[in-house]
Amino acid sequence: ETKIEGIASSIRVVPHFPKPGIMFQDITTLLLNPKAFKNTIDLFVERYSSMDISVVAGVEARGFIFGPSIALAIGAKFIPLRKPRKLPGEVISERYVLEYGTDCLEMHVGAIQQGERALVVDDLIATGGTLCAAMNLLERAGAEVVECACVIELPELKGRERLNGKPLFVLVESH
Ligand code: IMP
Repeated sequence: ETKIEGIASSIRVVPHFPKPGIMFQDITTLLLNPKAFKNTIDLFVERYSSMDISVVAGVEARGFIFGPSIALAIGAKFIPLRKPRKLPGEVISERYVLEYGTDCLEMHVGAIQQGERALVVDDLIATGGTLCAAMNLLERAGAEVVECACVIELPELKGRERLNGKPLFVLVESH
């Protein structure tokens, strides 16, 4: 079994969660498998340790599970991109469209310096709206987004095409 196969088989698919028709990709079962969890982090670290990345930005909430371990291993800082009204300091916000309604991500002003090379991390890309908003935040703050990284991609939803040509690295595709 390859590392990728071990990771893929550790992700549980929960039908009809959180609503009918959704096949929810549940990474909590990956976290219960220390070997697969470590391989997940290691594959990202192998890729990013020589890319001169100074900041890893994780998307609330599951980007907080993978992002910090990657940041520590490659010697980068970690920035949480949070849902509204969670961060205590001055923030910049980016609104984005969901299937029903809108959502918003926020980042602390001053977390990033002009020209820093950033990696955006989340567990999963579906339509790409969340990663697009995350990249916009970082770029508005003066960062250069080098790449986005997710554990899982749902390729049928074509989220990759919403990233304005920015590279996306994923470990597992789920159909
Ligand atoms: P997008 O903005 O449509 O690409 O949706 C991606 C966001 O929704 C990410 O922050 C994911 O954590 C979350 N998400 C959507 N579908 C799933 C799923 O099946 N499992 C886990 N997270 C999901």
